[in-house]
Amino acid sequence: AIPLVVAISTSISASKGLLIRNRTAFEEARKITAMVFDKTGTLTEGAFGVTRVKVLAADLDEATLLGTVAALEQQSQHPIAQGIVREAHKRDLTLPAIEDFQSLTGKGVTATVAGQAVVVASPGYLKEKDITPPADAVSNGAETVVFVLLDGQLAGYVALADRIRDDSKEAVQRLQQQGIKVYMATGDNQQVADAVAQELGLDGVFAEVLPDQKVNIIKDLQAQGQFVAMTGDGVNDAPALAQANVGIAVGSGTDIAAETADIILVNSKPTDITNLVEFGKATYRKMI
Ligand code: ADP
Ligand code: MG
Repeated sequence: AIPLVVAISTSISASKGLLIRNRTAFEEARKITAMVFDKTGTLTEGAFGVTRVKVLAADLDEATLLGTVAALEQQSQHPIAQGIVREAHKRDLTLPAIEDFQSLTGKGVTATVAGQAVVVASPGYLKEKDITPPADAVSNGAETVVFVLLDGQLAGYVALADRIRDDSKEAVQRLQQQGIKVYMATGDNQQVADAVAQELGLDGVFAEVLPDQKVNIIKDLQAQGQFVAMTGDGVNDAPALAQANVGIAVGSGTDIAAETADIILVNSKPTDITNLVEFGKATYRKMI
């Protein structure tokens, strides 16, 4: 039988913007000692606007570059992809036909366009390929940059800007007041990650991480004796959500994240997690 106090608490949680998929998660929430947040779409809104398009290849113009990138991104559900497609439409660009589209989860997208292999991907991907980005692509902590490779050669980049969610800072502070260490793990570049970490007063930050590395971050914290919660929105977050002691998916995120998580943030508000932790502690105090 479900203790009455838990049954009541669970239904109250639903009305506070939480969908509890795994009932033990409610009890577990009060045990959390470390919270790992994904950045894009989780601590930030994931509503990107294009700020700069830079061409780095001699025989290429901005419209062709952006049109090609948008043609690939039309097939992706990533918030970055949506921002790029919106910009291409704003500029009335004609998008070329693409073949062999593939999503490189947590890294970017790839396809063939007019016989050329096109990759649109993260700073981490570039590092993996031993390509050094130009200085002006990484100097600004306010921008997220995705790089464009044509037949393996760096041909340009697109810079975009996102916004930190209104209640992210409050959520972080209140979790910290409960004695919880708050970390961020992101596939985005170090400068952007550091800027967000500083703005929010995080206890630690992991940047340019690939999806399997997000899992390892959770495992490492668990090995240190932490009871770890992970909050994320993306396909790339799903393995980490599964590994965490409590997996929390952002409601505006992907289906795969939601299916893997114990708890869903229906209104995509980080403070709803904080409410859960505070409420969980108060509820179980009452029971004893
Ligand atoms: P986060 O971990 O902050 O949520 P993701 O792991 O979803 O970010 O993405 C990590 C990085 O991979 C992004 O910052 C971006 O550079 C790159 N990326 C992911 N998906 C795409 C895409 N569809 N197009 C271009 N780049 C992408
Ligand atoms: Mg994300």
